[in-house]
Amino acid sequence: MIKNQLNEILAQISQAEQTYSRTPGDVLLLAVSKTKSAQAIAEAYQAGQRHFGENYCQEAIGKQKELGAYDITWHFIGPIQSNKTKLIANHFSWVHSVDSFKIAQRLSTQRASDLPPLNICLQVNISGEPTKSGIALHELAELSQAIAILPNLVLRGVMAVPEPELDFEKQRQPFKTLYQAVADLNNPALDTFSFGMSADLKAAIAEGATIVRIGTALFGVRH
Ligand SMILES: *Cc1c(COP(=O)(O)O)cnc(C)c1O
Repeated sequence: MIKNQLNEILAQISQAEQTYSRTPGDVLLLAVSKTKSAQAIAEAYQAGQRHFGENYCQEAIGKQKELGAYDITWHFIGPIQSNKTKLIANHFSWVHSVDSFKIAQRLSTQRASDLPPLNICLQVNISGEPTKSGIALHELAELSQAIAILPNLVLRGVMAVPEPELDFEKQRQPFKTLYQAVADLNNPALDTFSFGMSADLKAAIAEGATIVRIGTALFGVRH
């Protein structure tokens, strides 16, 4: 049952907050509902979950229509194609996967003026894998400065999907590096660290995550 899984994950989050001396309630659970039905989302919602993350724009918009009566905050976390920026800019409150100035600029220009500014994170390719999306760590400072001038966006922080790693200490390393790189920018507006998934939730919280993005552990495996 989704409700049981949700409570189990919330308990793990709160346990990890305690273990690593994080402020209770500091870490937000983002329920990643890609490929899952509107019904599954409704079930999680009824159990108290409010933030949902989606990877595919069209799929997400279909579910948003079905769930129009629910007070959900939608986050876009998937790769962004230029021809989808207008839809993404206007159907989400958060975009975690911004990885170029061009995409940021399009999102800012296309965000409707009657909506509040879009919250964005820069996706950082922290393991340096050539096939992964995201900017390199050394691009972070310059890109975050450039984005600061865009009127309809608020740069909130960073997102990362490190290479899968089973060892707990090894899981912590890329999160630690990224956290430190953001701290070095000395910008108090950057308050969001979107890292940690089903398999590395605890390591992410140990290293400062403020949003963990959980799919499988909540909704079961994707087919
Ligand atoms: C699918 C996905 C998740 C959730 O991953 P799980 O391993 O199912 O918890 C988190 N973040 C991103 C960017 C994803 O694409």
